[in-house]
Amino acid sequence: MVPPKKRRHILFGRVNFIALPDPGPAMTSHLMPTYSRVDLAFAQGEGAWLTATNGERYLDFCCGVAVTALGHRHPHLVAALTEQANKVWHVSNLYDIPEADRVADRLCAASFAEVVFFQNSGAEAVECSIKTARKYQSANGHPERYRIITFEGAFHGRTLAALAATGNKKYLDGFGPPVDGFEQKPCGDLDAVKRAIGPETAAILIEPIMGEGGVRVVEPAFLKALRELCDRHGLLLMFDEVQTGMGRTGELFCYQRTGVTPDVMTLAKALGGGFPVGACLATREAAKGMTPGTHGSTFGFNPLAMSAANATLDVMLAPGFFDHVKKVGLLLKQRLAEIKDRYPSLIAEVRGEGLLIGLRALVPAGELVDALRGEQVLAVAAGDNVVRLLPPLIVSEAEIGEGVARLDRACARLDAAHSRQRKQEAAR
Ligand SMILES: *Cc1c(COP(=O)(O)O)cnc(C)c1O
Repeated sequence: MVPPKKRRHILFGRVNFIALPDPGPAMTSHLMPTYSRVDLAFAQGEGAWLTATNGERYLDFCCGVAVTALGHRHPHLVAALTEQANKVWHVSNLYDIPEADRVADRLCAASFAEVVFFQNSGAEAVECSIKTARKYQSANGHPERYRIITFEGAFHGRTLAALAATGNKKYLDGFGPPVDGFEQKPCGDLDAVKRAIGPETAAILIEPIMGEGGVRVVEPAFLKALRELCDRHGLLLMFDEVQTGMGRTGELFCYQRTGVTPDVMTLAKALGGGFPVGACLATREAAKGMTPGTHGSTFGFNPLAMSAANATLDVMLAPGFFDHVKKVGLLLKQRLAEIKDRYPSLIAEVRGEGLLIGLRALVPAGELVDALRGEQVLAVAAGDNVVRLLPPLIVSEAEIGEGVARLDRACARLDAAHSRQRKQEAAR
C-alpha cells in the first residue's frame, strides 16, 4: 500500500478545499512523478457524475479532459465493449479488421475525409499527420518540403515531434534539440505566416480552437486565409481536432462550424468515449504518400477500440444529438455570463463554443479549479489563466444548472477569501 501523500492546506477554512501535494521527499509512489495529482480517486461513474472512493459525488465537468463525451458507463458503450470483449480483443493489422473499416467508413461519410489511420492517442494521430504531410510533398517530387508552420499557444501532444510542433519551451526543456522542421507563428498574424512560407514548407497545422492553450477560438477569417495560402503554395492544411472533434463544439467536427475544410484532420480524446483511440483523417490526395509499409502501429485499429468508436458514433449520429449539445452549450454560456457579471473581480471572460468553454480568471485559474472541486465539481485549468468547463455532451439542463449553482458558491467563497485578504493587506 502506498501511504497517503502529505498535504498542505491553505487559504480556506474547509479541510481538503485547497490541498496541494507536498513537494517534499516523502515520495513512496512507484509512478513516475510527472503529474502532481490531487488526493482524490474515483470508484464509480454514472453519466455526468463520479463517485469518489470516500463516497463523495462529483459533477464531472472535466471528462478526463474532453474524453468521456457520452458520460460514464453509457449503456450503449458498455454493451458494445462487452460484446466485443467476448469476441476478440486483438488481431494485428496483418489481417482485415471489419470494425475498423466500419469506423473509417462512417468518419469519412460524415466529413471531408476519404482515408483514416487509427492509433491510440492524440499525439500519435498528430505524428501521423506530420508524416502524411511530409510524404505528400515527397510523393509530389518535393522531398525538400518538410517544414510545418504551427502557432504560438497551440498544443499537439507530448511525443518529440508533436512537442516540436507545440513549441512550448517549458515542455521541450532538457529533452535535447527539438525535432527539426517546425516553427510557431502568432495566431491571427497572416503576414507572419506568409513570410514563413518558403521552398521547404510542407503544411500548416492548427487547432480551430486552442484547447490546452486556453479555449482560444481562432477567427474563421484567419482559417479561410490559411486555406487560400495553402492552395496557392501547394501546402496541406491540417486541423488538430483531437480536442474540438467528436461533437465538443456542437457539430461532429469543429471545422464544420468554420466553413473551412482542411486536407488532414486529427481526432482522439472523445473518439472512443473513454477508450484510448486516435485517428488521422485525410483526403486520398493528401495521403497519397502513405503507401504500404510507410506507417504502422501494433495496437492501432484494435477491435476493442474500434467497437468503442463505433458505439460512440452510434450515439452521436442519432437524430437530435447535436441539437441537444447546442442547446445545453448555449444555456451554459448564458448562465456563465451571469456568473461573470456577479463576480467581475474573479472572471474576466467566458469563451468557447458548444461544451468547450473557458473562463478567463482574474485570480490564479488553479484557485478557481480548487474552489470548484471544493463544491464537488471537476474542471481543468488551461493556458492563458483559463478554467475549462468540459461537461459530457449528454449533460442535462438540470445538471448544467447544478454545475452553475456550485460555481456560484465556489466564486462566493473565493471572492470572500480574496476580499478578506485585500482588507488585511490594506490594514497593514
Ligand atoms: C490532448 C491533445 C493532444 C494530445 O493527445 P494525447 O492523447 O494526450 O497524446 C493533441 N492535440 C490536441 C489539440 C489535444 O487537445
